[in-house]
Amino acid sequence: MTRPASGALEVLRKTFGYPAFRGPQQDIISHVSGGGDALVLMPTGGGKSLCYQVPSLIREGTGVVVSPLIALMQDQVAALELLGVGAAFLNSSQDAQTARAVENALLAGKLDLLYVAPERLTTPRCLELLSKCPIALFAIDEAHCVSQWGHDFRPEYLQLSILHEQFPNVPRIALTATADPQTRTEIVSRLALEEARIFVSSFDRPNIHYAIVDKQDPRAQLLRFIREEHAGDAGIVYCLSRRKVDETAAWLAGQGINALPYHAGMDADSRRDHQARFQREEGVVMVATIAFGMGIDKPDVRFVAHLDLPKSIEGYYQETGRAGRDGLPADAWMTYGLADLVLQRRLIDQSEASEEFKRVSGSKLDALLGLCETAGCRRVRLLGYFGEQGGPCGNCDTCLEPPETYDATDEARKALSAIYRTGQRFGAVHVIDVLRGKGGDRVSRWGHDKLGVFGIGAEIDEVAWRGVFRQLVALGFVHVDHESHGALKLTAASRAVLKGEQSVEMRRVVARKRAAPATRVTAAAALSGEEVNLFDRLKAWRAAEARSQSVPAYVVLHDSTLAEIARRRPGDLDALATIGGIGAKKLEKYGAALLGLVSGHVVESP
Ligand code: ADP
Ligand code: ZN
Repeated sequence: MTRPASGALEVLRKTFGYPAFRGPQQDIISHVSGGGDALVLMPTGGGKSLCYQVPSLIREGTGVVVSPLIALMQDQVAALELLGVGAAFLNSSQDAQTARAVENALLAGKLDLLYVAPERLTTPRCLELLSKCPIALFAIDEAHCVSQWGHDFRPEYLQLSILHEQFPNVPRIALTATADPQTRTEIVSRLALEEARIFVSSFDRPNIHYAIVDKQDPRAQLLRFIREEHAGDAGIVYCLSRRKVDETAAWLAGQGINALPYHAGMDADSRRDHQARFQREEGVVMVATIAFGMGIDKPDVRFVAHLDLPKSIEGYYQETGRAGRDGLPADAWMTYGLADLVLQRRLIDQSEASEEFKRVSGSKLDALLGLCETAGCRRVRLLGYFGEQGGPCGNCDTCLEPPETYDATDEARKALSAIYRTGQRFGAVHVIDVLRGKGGDRVSRWGHDKLGVFGIGAEIDEVAWRGVFRQLVALGFVHVDHESHGALKLTAASRAVLKGEQSVEMRRVVARKRAAPATRVTAAAALSGEEVNLFDRLKAWRAAEARSQSVPAYVVLHDSTLAEIARRRPGDLDALATIGGIGAKKLEKYGAALLGLVSGHVVESP
């Protein structure tokens, strides 16, 4: 699109309505606008989109965005159109006629941005089309999809090196929120980005509050968490299996929560429908396997809950990162217990993968267990894993309520002895019964009520013993043998503990008390009563507006924009224009309605 050359800041302010760039955005934008290649590693919610959208508006020609997320292209394009940007997409969801109209708009120079699915982009027809018009840049979103080690491998991404061969003079910018060095190296080599400048942002998401709780009655814990801290909020609940997704969603729905299931075993129509409802309606809780979520750019997801342990810190970070992209307070919450750990270990041990892959998977799981078991700040652990240093954050469960740690050497020795004396043939439930002196049928059948270890741990309750066993496994003193039905076995490392040569420090796990009331600030709590009224009215207006345009509410305006309007109550268009998220186009389109709501809200009655 031809437009007078304008500076990046001017585009940011006029088109997007934001006063300033965030973090490294400015450097990235000026590098790419100047024709350089870039690899951008930035956390979810960090603001990656502007890094290619602004240069696409500044440079001559169309910015071509490769994205694997067909289902989301439509919303992205709608959001850009609302900003007055010429945007369109090409993917398999369109009929031939619509696709041809997009191609014509491209050839006529009417598009600032074109979103294309990777399998479409690499067809001869599409490459031929692109060679006929000026291209501002190629943006390769979710670039980690090129990595075969990664969690989202897309074979189509391997073809993308063709862009460099066919369009050597067009700058390319690859973006991802996956940080580990292995993936980074792979992106560089597979996309031929050796010359690219690499921009690495901090991976901290300060608005996310992390909490990992001892799994005791997971459904009830989840329900309480949603009801007490997130009533009416949009959120995602991750489960490991499809069956558990279906059961959990149905159960939550039965409890009056607006919950929907999502997993790869559902038919494509229901999946699409549920995803669209999650994106567009307010307050939907999506219960899903990890098949759901990549690139979900819904900014107002207020919580991500894990009912099962993910495979690695990368996975945990990616999944939890979908919360709070709008920068408002959000929760990452997980229940975790011995069975999770055992299951993940078994999945690794019994997989068909190479020994090398199993070894890498095992050490990734260990790092995640370290995060679960730490008595220190969760964020310090999380960021430390990605190579970042920092102090305690004050916004995670262990910072806000430091867990008690204790010298558990005695308990550890009792547990290890009980495992040994019962022949290393039983799981935790049985061994705990023996320790607590519970002489049920099973215990007496094996004669375990006659053992010296019978009842030596009677003074400790079952919940606490489960915590001890879980930590023994996580710390590597006990091994769960899947070949013999999950029997606990001693490892070489346990010998020093048994012999009294090594002490063991543990977190104290106690039976659940009532959770302390949340001390954190929520979006609504940051507003006074009067402001909340206006905020609610703005939201109602936005809902109607979104419905009439059939776009998600946040495409009209973000919560953070509405909250700022409610707080500052702009009296005229100039004042309204200074609110974050109000650019020229939205000012023109919604200015009068918003000012009417602000001035009328005191006198008007609903
Ligand atoms: P990512 O793709 O990195 O997850 P997005 O590009 O979706 O992140 O941006 C996350 C949110 O931050 C969006 O709501 C976006 O509008 C907002 N945002 C990005 N850059 C800025 C900025 N400079 N000022 C204000 N808001 C911004
Ligand atoms: Zn912390």
